[in-house]
Amino acid sequence: MRIGSLNITSVVDGEVAIPTETYYAGHTNDQWREFTASMCHSTGNPVQTVGSFLIEGLPDRLILVDTGVGNNPTFPFAGGALRSGLAALGVHPDDITDVLFTHLHFDHIGWASLYGKPFFTNATYRCDQRDWEHFMATDYEIPAWEHVLAKPEFDAPQPRLGPIADRIECWTGDSQLFPGLETLDAAGHTPGTTVLRLTNSGEEGLILGDVVHGYMELVADDWHLDAHENGEQALAVVDHYRKLLSDTQVPFVGSHFPGMRWGRFDGIDTIVDLPIR
Ligand SMILES: [Zn+2]
Repeated sequence: MRIGSLNITSVVDGEVAIPTETYYAGHTNDQWREFTASMCHSTGNPVQTVGSFLIEGLPDRLILVDTGVGNNPTFPFAGGALRSGLAALGVHPDDITDVLFTHLHFDHIGWASLYGKPFFTNATYRCDQRDWEHFMATDYEIPAWEHVLAKPEFDAPQPRLGPIADRIECWTGDSQLFPGLETLDAAGHTPGTTVLRLTNSGEEGLILGDVVHGYMELVADDWHLDAHENGEQALAVVDHYRKLLSDTQVPFVGSHFPGMRWGRFDGIDTIVDLPIR
């Protein structure tokens, strides 16, 4: 995806495919596929991709947004490909100057560290202060749903993020991180969930993180993800972006869209996948 002179590449780490009804009460796989028919398998559960966005084009910066599920995922997650994905692009982990986290759930911090050391050895790691305080609190307890999908001894915030604690720099809510890269407060999915706004040469794009997990949450208003930490707040954020994206037709991408592909509203109730260019 190009936004002005910025180049944003989806780097796939893995995927997960679980039944729709386990996290959208009252909805089915077939209903989900109506919204992303071209990108969803016709059999089985809808595929959600996990991975990172590589942002090239900001002066002196090579930025990675989120770090996938890591090298030791738990079924039904498959993963661990981020390192190879970066290598295929000619990017070494040491080249990354900044790692930005949209939020600190385990499927976004997987490659933050490896074997107790920072994986991106030269990077400054960045996230919202509220997520850092929430997930790294000494009394933080992993929710029940994470025990089914992850190995807490490896994937919990402390083992993953403890090794990078002295490299973390936090923003809070709306801020300008770099020229052309803003953080937008989208708290609700987690206390510090963030949308990233990229602007360059008159063009714009939004990385929505986990504000939504599929097109249906934006097109329809009765798809409510069960895993938001603050459901009411999260749904207000979805409402905001449903209107904004529909009104402006700004390109956007969610962290778990199939293939991490970008889309854009085309009319009030239709979203089209954008070609990679
Ligand atoms: Zn996620």
